[in-house]
Amino acid sequence: MADIDIRRDVLLKPYTTMKCGGPAAFFAEPGSADELAEAFLFAEKEGLPAAILGAGSNVLISDKGFDGLVIRIGKTMSGIDVDMKDDRGIISCKAGSMLSAFGNACVNAGLEGAEFCCGIPGSAGGAIYMNAGAYGRQMDDIVTEVTYWKEGDIRKISGDKAEFSYRKSIFSSMKDAVILGFTAEVPCGDIDKIRAYADELRQKRINSQPLNFPSCGSTFKRPEGYFAGRLIEDAGLKGFALDDSGAAVSAKHAGFVVNCEGKASASDVYRLICYIREKVFETSGVMLEPEVKFIGDFDL
Ligand SMILES: Cc1cc2nc3c(=O)[nH]c(=O)nc-3n(C[C@H](O)[C@H](O)[C@H](O)COP(=O)(O)OP(=O)(O)OC[C@H]3O[C@@H](n4cnc5c(N)ncnc54)[C@H](O)[C@@H]3O)c2cc1C
Repeated sequence: MADIDIRRDVLLKPYTTMKCGGPAAFFAEPGSADELAEAFLFAEKEGLPAAILGAGSNVLISDKGFDGLVIRIGKTMSGIDVDMKDDRGIISCKAGSMLSAFGNACVNAGLEGAEFCCGIPGSAGGAIYMNAGAYGRQMDDIVTEVTYWKEGDIRKISGDKAEFSYRKSIFSSMKDAVILGFTAEVPCGDIDKIRAYADELRQKRINSQPLNFPSCGSTFKRPEGYFAGRLIEDAGLKGFALDDSGAAVSAKHAGFVVNCEGKASASDVYRLICYIREKVFETSGVMLEPEVKFIGDFDL
């Protein structure tokens, strides 16, 4: 039997890219499926809810924290294996690996089509959960199979059954399922072209996104027929802040809410998100849907 270390009162702020949020009552970083099972058993015995955290790049955690067990899938459950077969690579990627590391592994092996992964700052598990994507491609273009843990069993689901859609997967509606990894198939290509394209996409991000401030990336999903950033800009909110808390609409890319200097609280960020939704609705009639996932209690 595994012997997992479950810590109490762990501040979650450092585990997120938005750099705000309170503590988890309990916190575990399993290193194996056995330890994961043990963590869930602990939560069940204590009557606690569980929340899964990857690299924390798409979550806003309440200032009150999470009154349950946070299970973080990170470095302790990582690893990437590239197997070259004829004209393609079969890549096995564990959930705790960074998606950028997966993208870089594909680029370095001369595999074409995973370059979009190189600049996304999430884990592989989070990327599957969110069906992460950029520059016209997303995870479901390359993922052939996902391995996950649920109710004590390790299960597999093929990519075409994982109900991938825009920033959504079957896992978005599964309770207490933990993605353990995925397999992707990526065709071979011209390595110089692949490297140049990955560099071009990285540069595009640097040019267009506020990467020097804490954020969750795009705060809102792209509404059908619109761009969230453009709607926010049209509502006069580019660079806008409600107060001097540090929570602001980025002046570089209106689709990003940033936490200037990392001093804003989750409530400050949440208040701004609510305000943006209201204002954009007033000016355009479009109600923006947050892409960011909220963990904990956000009643203001
Ligand atoms: C600067 C910046 C740029 C970004 N650019 C992009 C972009 O171009 N495209 C894009 O799609 N996203 C982008 N994002 C958002 C984010 O990186 C992605 O959504 C990413 O896939 C989230 O992965 P994560 O590991 O950080 O997940 P987290 O934020 O930790 O979690 C997100 C959700 O996934 C669930 N989850 C995470 N891991 C697992 C697991 N192993 N098993 C089950 N559930 C899990 C969590 O419970 C939560 O509901 C950006 C973010 C930032 C900060």
